[in-house]
Amino acid sequence: MVVPPDAATRRELAVRAALAHRPLTDERPLVALLDLDGVQRTAAALHAAFAEVTAPGQRVLHTFAVKAGTLVPLLRLLDGLGIGCEVASPGELALARAAGVTADRVVLDSPAKTRAELREALALGIALNVDSRQELDRVDALRAEAPAHGPLGLRINPQLGGGAIDAMSTATATSKFGVALTDEGAREWVLRAYLDRPWLTRLHCHVGSQGVPLDRMAAGVRAIHELAEEINAAAGRRQVDSLDIGGGLPVNFASDEVSPTFAEYARLLREAVPGLFDGRYGLVTEFGRSLLAKSGLILARVEYTKSAGGRPVALTHAGAQVAVRTAFAPESWPLRVAAYDATGTPRSGPPVRQDVAGPCCFAGDLTARDRPLPRLVPGDVVALLDTGAYYFSTPLAYNALPRPAVLGFSVSEEGAVAFTTLRHAQSLAELVAEHGGGL
Ligand SMILES: *Cc1c(COP(=O)(O)O)cnc(C)c1O
Repeated sequence: MVVPPDAATRRELAVRAALAHRPLTDERPLVALLDLDGVQRTAAALHAAFAEVTAPGQRVLHTFAVKAGTLVPLLRLLDGLGIGCEVASPGELALARAAGVTADRVVLDSPAKTRAELREALALGIALNVDSRQELDRVDALRAEAPAHGPLGLRINPQLGGGAIDAMSTATATSKFGVALTDEGAREWVLRAYLDRPWLTRLHCHVGSQGVPLDRMAAGVRAIHELAEEINAAAGRRQVDSLDIGGGLPVNFASDEVSPTFAEYARLLREAVPGLFDGRYGLVTEFGRSLLAKSGLILARVEYTKSAGGRPVALTHAGAQVAVRTAFAPESWPLRVAAYDATGTPRSGPPVRQDVAGPCCFAGDLTARDRPLPRLVPGDVVALLDTGAYYFSTPLAYNALPRPAVLGFSVSEEGAVAFTTLRHAQSLAELVAEHGGGL
C-alpha cells in the first residue's frame, strides 16, 4: 500500500520542486507556498471534530476568518471544503463575494461598520454581529427603512482577561470589542435589547487569538450559552437559536506537531458547555490561523552574509514585508527557519548561531535572532515555516517591496508536486500604479 506523504515530507518535496520549477531570481527572490493537501486535511479535521460532539441534525456553519488569508482562490477552495467566510471589512466582503461564497455562508464582524456596510449586509442577508449599542441603534434605523435578511446577533465581551499576547486578547475588561457584559447594568441592557427586538436571534463571542488558553476560550463560549439560556427563559421562547463561538485556536510554531487539535478543543467545549451540543442551538465557528498556518511557508534567497560584532548575519529577501509580527514583536511571534541550498537540498553542517535578516531598511527587520542553523552562504534559500496565515497574505508595503507570488501545491502519493497560482507576484508597474504612478 502506498502511504500518502506526511506534512513534513510534502514540504520537502515542494521546496525542491518549487526551486526547480521557478528558481529564485533577482526579479523574484522570494515566493510563498501553500500546501493545499494540508489545508484540505485541516478542514476535514475541523468538520470531524465538531461532527463528533454535535447532536444529530445540529446545524454547524464553519467560516474562515478572511483576514488570516486574503486570497480569492483560497477562499474559493475553502468554500468548496465546506468552510464559508468571516469578514470584517468591505474589502474582505468583496474578496468573499469574488470567490463566490454565498451570503448565507458569510458572517460580518467589525467594530467599525459604516452605515453603508450595514445596509449592504442587511440587504444581502449576511449574518451580522452587532458590536456596540450605537451600532444597534443604526441597525434599528436601517431595519425601519428596508427589509433585512440574515441572522442578527450581538457580540459579547465576557471580560474574562487576556492571554500571553496583549494585542491578541479580545476579552479583557477594557477590550474595544463587543458589549462588555460584566460592566454595571450591561447584562440587564442586553436582556432588554433582545426582549425588545425579537429579530435578534444570535449571540457571538471571540475571546482572542494566539496565546489565549483553551479553558478561557471555553469560558467565553460558556458565558454566551448561559446568556442565551437567560434571554430565552425571559422571552418564554427559543429566541436565540444560534451561537457564534468565534475562532482563536492557537497554533504550535515550535515543531511540526499540530497542537492543540480541533478535536481536543471540541471535546473541551463538550465538557465545559455540555448544552452547546444538545442540538438546540445552531453553531458558527470562525477559525483563521489554525486552518492555515501550518500549511504555508515562505522561501527567500540569501543575498549576502556578513559578520557584525562577532555574530554572523544572513541578509535574505524575506523580512517585515511578509512577516510583520515577527519583525515587530519577535518574542510573541517566533518562526522556525529551515536552511536549504539553491536546489532545495536541506543544508547540513554544524549549527552556528546567526541572525536571519530581511531586506527592509530598519534594524529590527529580522526573522530569527541568534538562531543555531547550518552556516548560510549567498545563494542559499531560507524557509520561514508555519507562515500560512497572517504572513504572505498580510504584507506590509514598507520600502515599496512588491508582494511575492503565492503558489498552492499538491503532492501525489508517488511524490509528484503540482503547483497552482493563488496570487501573481506584483510587478513593478503594478506597484508604481498602486503608489500614485500615473496621477
Ligand atoms: C481574527 C478573528 C477570528 C480568527 O482568529 P484566529 O486566531 O485567526 O482563529 C475570528 N473571529 C473574529 C471576530 C476575529 O476578529
